[in-house]
Amino acid sequence: PTQTDCPPDVEELGRSTWTFLHTLTATYPTTASTEKQTQMRSFLGLFSNLYPCWACAEDFRNWMADPSGKNEPRLSSRAEFGQWMCEAHNAVNRKLGKKEFDCRFWEERWRTGWKDGRCD
Ligand code: FAD
Repeated sequence: PTQTDCPPDVEELGRSTWTFLHTLTATYPTTASTEKQTQMRSFLGLFSNLYPCWACAEDFRNWMADPSGKNEPRLSSRAEFGQWMCEAHNAVNRKLGKKEFDCRFWEERWRTGWKDGRCD
């Protein structure tokens, strides 16, 4: 059997989930209505409680709830939300000792493809 026939471990689940989460920001409205923002805020609240890696979920909840308020979801536009998700992912990258991603490029990675045409 190939790897993909097996139940996902934390890494595999994480990769798939980041694909989903960044794609969610890539398809978010350029300017979001109050209703969209409310829906996304509840999604993030539910997601961070239900994500099926419990330790990951708890850390993610705590990161969002940082007392400074600096990690609260920013949902007014695609640009804000995409940047916020990139910062959220970088917080996990730091925790795991992985390289941080330069958030100026989140949109090329997840929405438009790279300017050099490597996704064409
Ligand atoms: P991933 O981190 O899965 O990244 C996939 C791709 O996203 C990369 O190849 C890169 O192209 C792109 N990318 C990387 N960083 C960014 C960024 N900042 N912004 C935009 N794009 C980026 N694992 C644990 O072991 N412990 C945890 O506590 C933990 N918490 C997690 C919490 C959440 C909410 C999620 C979704 C996952 C969590 N994971 C955790 C899984 C972990 O983040 C990785 O997904 C996993 O280790 C596989 O890593 P990877 O190196 O394949 O790349």
